[in-house]
Amino acid sequence: MLDLQPSAPATREGALHIVFRGGKLVTDPRSPTPCVLSHTELHVQGWRVLREQFVGAWSGEPVFAVEIEADDEIDELRFQTGSLYQLIGRVDDSLFTATGRAAQLLDWQRDHSFCGRCGNAMGPADNGRAMGCPSCQTTLYPRIAPCVIVLVTRGRELLLARNARFPRPMYSTLAGFIEPGESAEDTLRREVREEVGVEVGSLRYFSSQPWPFPNQLMLGFFAEYESGELTPDGEEISEAGFYVPEALPPVPPPASIAGQLIRHHCATHR
Ligand SMILES: [Zn+2]
Repeated sequence: MLDLQPSAPATREGALHIVFRGGKLVTDPRSPTPCVLSHTELHVQGWRVLREQFVGAWSGEPVFAVEIEADDEIDELRFQTGSLYQLIGRVDDSLFTATGRAAQLLDWQRDHSFCGRCGNAMGPADNGRAMGCPSCQTTLYPRIAPCVIVLVTRGRELLLARNARFPRPMYSTLAGFIEPGESAEDTLRREVREEVGVEVGSLRYFSSQPWPFPNQLMLGFFAEYESGELTPDGEEISEAGFYVPEALPPVPPPASIAGQLIRHHCATHR
C-alpha cells in the first residue's frame, strides 16, 4: 500500500530509498523489492545525494526518492541501472506506483530549479510539496499530464491499433493527451477521429492509472463505434482493425490500463 502522507519524517533512520543516477533507476536484482534500498545501504555505498524528495509511506515505511551524483560509482556486481519499464509486472503495483512517483518528483524538482517567471533559484516550499521562488513568490506544484485511453468496441469486437512507434508487433487501444480547453470526452472523440477516422457514440468510464512515462494520468474509457471506415492516420497508427475476443493479436500486459480494458471487454463478451 502506498500512502501519500503530507510530510516527511524528521529522521531518515529506517527509511527506504528509491535511488536514481542520471535519471536511471538503481536496482538490487537479488532483492524481492529490487527498487527500494535501505538507509544503511545508501551510506555503505558512499553515494552523495544530489536531490531528495519524500515519496510517502509504502507498506508503512517512509520512502524517499534520491538522485545521486552522476559520477558516483555503482557496484555492477551488486546493482543494475535501467528504466522504470523493467519493473512492470515484476513488482507489486503499489511499489511500481511509488517508484513512478519517485521518478516524477525528482524530474519535477530538477526542472524547477529556476523560476520560469523571474529566473531566480527556487527551493522547497509548502513542506517540500512545492518549489517556491523567494524573489517573486511563485509557487509551483508537481504537474501531471492527463491523457485519455480508449477501447473502441463494436458489439463483441474490439478496435486494436498498432502504433507506428512500437518496436514489436503489439496491438493496443487508442490514446492521446488532453489539450487545454478540452474535456476528456472531447479528447476521446478527437483522438479516435484523428487516429483511425471513425466516430464513436456512447462512452463509458472504466478507471484511471498513473503512468510515469514521464508523467501521465491515463483516464480509461470504453466507446461504442458509431460510424466511419477505419483509416489509420499512417503517422501515429500504422494498422488498425476490429478483432473478436477469441482471436486477438499480441496485446499489452495486464499491468497497463490498455491491457485491463482489453481483458475486461473480452471477459464480459465471451
Ligand atoms: Zn521568481
